[in-house]
Amino acid sequence: MAEPRVPGADESDLGLACGETVDYHTLDMGLRELSCSCGDRHAVVQDVHPLSRFVPEDLVAVLNDVVETTDGSPFSTLHLMGIVREEFPESIVSESVGEDGTVGYSMVWVAQFDARRLHEIVVELIVELMEHAISHTEDSEAMRAFERQMHEFDVSDFVDQYRDAREFTDEHDRPA
Ligand SMILES: [Zn+2]
Repeated sequence: MAEPRVPGADESDLGLACGETVDYHTLDMGLRELSCSCGDRHAVVQDVHPLSRFVPEDLVAVLNDVVETTDGSPFSTLHLMGIVREEFPESIVSESVGEDGTVGYSMVWVAQFDARRLHEIVVELIVELMEHAISHTEDSEAMRAFERQMHEFDVSDFVDQYRDAREFTDEHDRPA
């Protein structure tokens, strides 16, 4: 029988899209993926993760140049995950934990899909964002150069290579 829910008792519980619940205190800083009791792995993102988790630093610099954020601050993981969440409202849950001094981050997102799939989605959205931004520039040379690059661009290949190059490991990859 389900216990009656006492307001405030489970404040650190995060209800996931799959129906499971996880205490965000167990989501260590830097964790990128969670092995869930539903049997799936879910991507975990924290606001302290740099954007270079997904794309190279030079691209991050371009993003900062071309993308205007509503609050005027540099384009960050917070903005990025806001966009991801808009695109996949059913698949991403988030929690603002800034009041909780025991974790090293202020925002955490957990996706229904795994970290690799999230990475692909993020790269696709960033490409769209850049296309949109560049289509508004007067610089037709920059636009043509960008279009040429994008013509050759394969998101899945990019993600594979990036994850290899950055040696992204998660808790499953570590030796026992
Ligand atoms: Zn799950």
